[in-house]
Amino acid sequence: MYYCDFCQCSFPDNINNRKKHNRGLTHIQNKKNHYDWYRDPQLVIQEHLQKPPCRRFRQTRACDFGLNCIYSHVLFGPQGEPIYPPELTEWLHARSMANLPKPSSQKKRKKQPHNKQAGRSKVYQLPPGWQSSDLPPSLQPPPIDIGWDHAGGWG
Ligand SMILES: [Zn+2]
Ligand SMILES: [Zn+2]
Repeated sequence: MYYCDFCQCSFPDNINNRKKHNRGLTHIQNKKNHYDWYRDPQLVIQEHLQKPPCRRFRQTRACDFGLNCIYSHVLFGPQGEPIYPPELTEWLHARSMANLPKPSSQKKRKKQPHNKQAGRSKVYQLPPGWQSSDLPPSLQPPPIDIGWDHAGGWG
């Protein structure tokens, strides 16, 4: 069986069925709607505004094609302000409630290597308030009575 994610339907999997399905208007619309969902809502609105007005919708305020209509269901008020059809306002509302992850925030998270290096240089500094006596003996500076008198004889 072949399952189409866009249409949420399944059918016996063979090349002919797939071709037929992928060419079907329902599938094309579902696929477009799927990608529209992840697009900037402003662009989606723009696209609706650019379509020629739907006569059926203008006359009857109803059109079975809804968002999939090849014509625009956006009407204009007396001041020329756009009036979005219910299906579009519903879509925009659902879209705003969906809380989609923004691509920009994902990019920020991937920039971590830079921060790691800044943190690493701090390891070699004692945190404020620390005494060197808190360190293990091997890391402590030499005691003062080391006998510097003999230093001149060294080397
Ligand atoms: Zn499909
Ligand atoms: Zn229409």
